[in-house]
Amino acid sequence: MQKILNHIISSLIVCMAPALSASAETKIVPPAAHAQQHSDLIAGQLNINNQIKVQDTEDFLGNLFPEEEEPEMDIYTEGWDSQAVNCYSAAQVPDEMLLDLRGFHMPTAPTYVTSPYGYRRRFRRMHLGIDLKVQVGDTIYAAFDGKVRIVRNQGRRKGYGLYVVIRHNNRLETVYGHLSKFLVQPDDYVKAGDPIALGGNTGHSTGPHLHFETRYMGYAINPAAIFDFANHTTHTDQYLFTKNTYMNARDYAPDAATYASAESTTKTSSASKTSAKGRSSYYTIRRGDTLSRIAARHGTTVSKLCRLNGMSTSSKLTVGKKIRLN
Ligand SMILES: [Zn+2]
Repeated sequence: MQKILNHIISSLIVCMAPALSASAETKIVPPAAHAQQHSDLIAGQLNINNQIKVQDTEDFLGNLFPEEEEPEMDIYTEGWDSQAVNCYSAAQVPDEMLLDLRGFHMPTAPTYVTSPYGYRRRFRRMHLGIDLKVQVGDTIYAAFDGKVRIVRNQGRRKGYGLYVVIRHNNRLETVYGHLSKFLVQPDDYVKAGDPIALGGNTGHSTGPHLHFETRYMGYAINPAAIFDFANHTTHTDQYLFTKNTYMNARDYAPDAATYASAESTTKTSSASKTSAKGRSSYYTIRRGDTLSRIAARHGTTVSKLCRLNGMSTSSKLTVGKKIRLN
């Protein structure tokens, strides 16, 4: 902040210097004309004071010192590659990383999930993202602030088709597939909510939709475990990435009703139920645990834990007691 203030002060001095020397040479103005100038000046000042808002000041500072806004460079050089969606090697992935999810913006206008993340029996492979219904030409938005890493066309009927990958300041990467038009270029800096592309039906796709992935160092995390698409928000402010939360999130399938709108097809709900099948897992409460920490560690939500265990958010946790996770 001190640095910014110094910048402002020095730029003000630079701006004012010519005005000061000019006024010294200006000849004296008769009082009547001067009074008019004076009131004009005051009127102008009042006007300015009325108009300036915090947002304007922030925008002004942002434009003045764009470098202050740019994130640390290492996340944008580490494994930076404009071709491969996963440009990391498993060896680089840390055991634990807390990802800041604040500032999330929905990648689409309000919509519903047409296909969840998870294993697709029909294709015998993992679906590494979530499909959100869009029409061809609908605007697609950046989910967080970040820098565009890939803008690419994978082919007419192949894979993602036209797709964009953005690396975010919070170290997550998001992938947007089956687009019809790009609105960004590689290495562009984007803000959460900036239009980045138009939705489409390119690549391996059977109808217009957005294929949306969230990856941390190449690991495609189930987006439903991070985002609450029905309410256009995140489940929590932070997501704790560990190999454990990643694996648990793979099976995370909220009830169709909690994340899909009424327009959701029956196909979606049956798909969710299928992937929700399997044995329940349990966690033994340890000293210092809180519901939100347990939820974050296991890729679930506090409200879901409460529902499964007949608890409220204010319930006391008993060390050694088992809590149901799914
Ligand atoms: Zn998809």
